[in-house]
Amino acid sequence: MLRRCFVRKVNVICLALLILLLAATAALSGEFWGSIKSDVYHYPDCRYAKKIDPRYLLKFASPEQARDKGYRPCKVCRPPYESDGAEDGRSSRGSSS
Ligand SMILES: [Zn+2]
Repeated sequence: MLRRCFVRKVNVICLALLILLLAATAALSGEFWGSIKSDVYHYPDCRYAKKIDPRYLLKFASPEQARDKGYRPCKVCRPPYESDGAEDGRSSRGSSS
């Protein structure tokens, strides 16, 4: 009985860690989601992003990329307008304006 309870707890913790990891990965990769049916881009964990039909899902590597295609930031999850200020030193700075 006790053991079962413990296992369940561990499962919950693992799940939480996994979700955190996924969220962190998404944040680090600077990924944003949009739908071809709308002109808004979201953080992948936004409740509206989750409603996007996979058939219409578009992924952007950066806010600039999304804006380039005429998308604007969601007012609910408020993704950045620019990737500047976001701490992703991974993306190269070779901006070709
Ligand atoms: Zn959103």
